[in-house]
Amino acid sequence: MAKQLSGTWVRDQLLEELKPRVEELRRRARPPGLAVILAGNNPASQIYVRNKVKACQELGILSETHTPPEEVTTEELVALVETLNKREEIDGILVQMPLPAQVDASRVLLAVSPEKDVDGFHPLNMGYLLTGRPGPRACTPAGILELLRRYEIPIKGRRAVVLGRSDIVGKPMAVLLMHEHATVTICHSRTVNLAEEARRAEILVAAMGRPALVTGEFIQPGAVVIDVGINRITDRAEAVRIFGAESERVQAFDRTGSVLVGDVHPRDVEEKASAYTPVPGGVGPLTIAMLMVNTVEAAERRLGACSA
Ligand code: NAD
Repeated sequence: MAKQLSGTWVRDQLLEELKPRVEELRRRARPPGLAVILAGNNPASQIYVRNKVKACQELGILSETHTPPEEVTTEELVALVETLNKREEIDGILVQMPLPAQVDASRVLLAVSPEKDVDGFHPLNMGYLLTGRPGPRACTPAGILELLRRYEIPIKGRRAVVLGRSDIVGKPMAVLLMHEHATVTICHSRTVNLAEEARRAEILVAAMGRPALVTGEFIQPGAVVIDVGINRITDRAEAVRIFGAESERVQAFDRTGSVLVGDVHPRDVEEKASAYTPVPGGVGPLTIAMLMVNTVEAAERRLGACSA
């Protein structure tokens, strides 16, 4: 039976390690500051932001949330970002995605000062990642790397396949694995023979946003499988197909009317992988923890620079 890799366990370690660093910043100067922009009324985004703010509070990071309305314009958001860029006590600016449809998200992300870009999405920081220079890394892939390290899963020389090529997950994940000396393949919606490509992986990362698409035929026996997908299922028949009629997850579905599933088929991965991240409790907790790491590092860089 495959081993479950706990994102919660890694998150707790990461947050514990940050506490003395936050304490030191408070003692020397001031607490780190994170500004979050939550535009519009996306319910999932509201939950994500609430969890990020809660993590800040637990660590002693000061946070403030800006909530422009659904009809906000690109210009208004850029102006808000520029104001936050100038504020000394703000070390990190997070623009929660997705932005309302009329907003040009790439312009807003480009407006964030690269030194306050705690998501690592600014093209300058993406360039730093690609060329191996220090800088903030996208939180989800950076968290996955921490998980692999802390579970002592070797990466060097191994064949890694990343399913998905988004700027947020797939691309930075592939680059980070390459820097760790894996031999990396990136697959996407136009890949021919996806299962065949995936089956070559000793480390398989699924980040497509397609519920349980990665079935047994995608998984090499003994592979390590990282499931980034978070998909909410509201169709009972699909929940039964994925989890099995007798499962606790279907019972939970019957109580709440929905259930979360990753991109990886939960029963198939259990049978074929050597280790895998569950959904929930796998990659999700790592993302917020790495946001905290990036915020503390931004504060350390900025305050270090101030006192120099
Ligand atoms: P995205 O929609 O921006 O990108 C999806 C990628 O998957 C694209 O590159 C696309 O080419 C590829 N893809 C889609 N369908 C495919 C198919 N049938 N075959 C092959 N490739 C296919 O998504 P994203 O922002 O990268 O997020 C991916 C998933 O990860 C989503 O479920 C999202 O909710 C989840 N996510 C989770 C966390 C976390 O903290 N756990 C963080 C970010 C994203």
